[in-house]
Amino acid sequence: MHYLDNAATTPVRPEAAEAAGRVMREEWGNPSSTHRLGRESALRLDAWRKTVADALGCRPSELYFTSCGTESDNWAIRNAVDAGRHHGRHIVTTAIEHPAVLEPLRMLEQRGWEVTRIAPDRDGRITADAVVSAVREDTVLVCVMLVNNELGTVLPVADIAHRIRDSGSQAMIHCDAVQAFLKMPFTPAELGVDTLAVSGHKIGAPKGIGALYCRGGARLLPLLYGGGQERSLRSGTEPTSQIAAFAKAAELGAAEREKNILKVSQLRAYAKQKLKEAVPDLVFLPGEGVPHILAVSLPGFMAEPMVRFLGDRDIFVSSGSACHRGSPSHVFAALQIPKDVRDGVLRISFSPANTQEDVDALADGLAEASRNMFRTMS
Ligand code: PLP
Repeated sequence: MHYLDNAATTPVRPEAAEAAGRVMREEWGNPSSTHRLGRESALRLDAWRKTVADALGCRPSELYFTSCGTESDNWAIRNAVDAGRHHGRHIVTTAIEHPAVLEPLRMLEQRGWEVTRIAPDRDGRITADAVVSAVREDTVLVCVMLVNNELGTVLPVADIAHRIRDSGSQAMIHCDAVQAFLKMPFTPAELGVDTLAVSGHKIGAPKGIGALYCRGGARLLPLLYGGGQERSLRSGTEPTSQIAAFAKAAELGAAEREKNILKVSQLRAYAKQKLKEAVPDLVFLPGEGVPHILAVSLPGFMAEPMVRFLGDRDIFVSSGSACHRGSPSHVFAALQIPKDVRDGVLRISFSPANTQEDVDALADGLAEASRNMFRTMS
């Protein structure tokens, strides 16, 4: 198998699976129980929170566990609009955010909020100028992702956040860093954001665990009411096995981060050369961003049949983000690129576990597809 769709999800690291298994088999006490099993579980929970916080570069008191990146994004957005409701009803974001941000904002728009979406330039770049100049007196929230999940481009979050703060704006600044966590060096404090979302299954932990950073441990509005877990802000018995796995994956990923970035950068460079040799018509989409995401297109070939053709040969890539489930990507639509290029965009996403053999298999698969598949007229 040649799995090159790591931006959709990553395989669970064996050490993370082992950590989860140990909690399920032996350390399954409820952290809220007052007896010894519970107290031990609560202590472990503190340690896991510290591990994830260390990997992210924040304090444990600034980190809340959630069920996924989507929940973290939704919580941050809901919190910001609630907190700012007496101040204004304007939100600034970009046209290339993940649906985990765009959909709650669309829902707010239907309820009377005004949303300004900054479009990328033809290279997929969002400029700080464009975002900052859209902020108004009544803006309560600015949402800008750190790494785009389909192009891999890095957005100038730090520049945006610092300029907005310097302007005296009261707007909350939220960053979706799901594709950036452990893939590039940053800390939430360096970025200068108020809230920031990460997700476990993009870093080798299982699905169903994420976290929300909140600057200075500032008081968030509760998301779930109940037994008072997560400092009374997100009630519900903590998924300790998921959290244990998340902490293990974060610990390993943080220790290996520089080595992994280098390895994946070398693999990406190899892929660019190898794929172009195999399929000279291949187009690389603009934007040198994080090394683990490479967007390419074979103009004249539709992406979805190509994904299936490659999948039949045990080579896994995606046509844009997995969340589109095959429907056209709003990110590629926002880029001013020719339709035949846009229709053929494939996202290749690497992990440090990938090898040159995976890239060679993809190059062969693409070459075979370009010889044998039906080419659309455009
Ligand atoms: N934000 C970005 C940029 C993503 O790539 C994803 C997942 O693909 C999410 C948010 C949602 O994360 P989760 O799948 O953990 O809900």
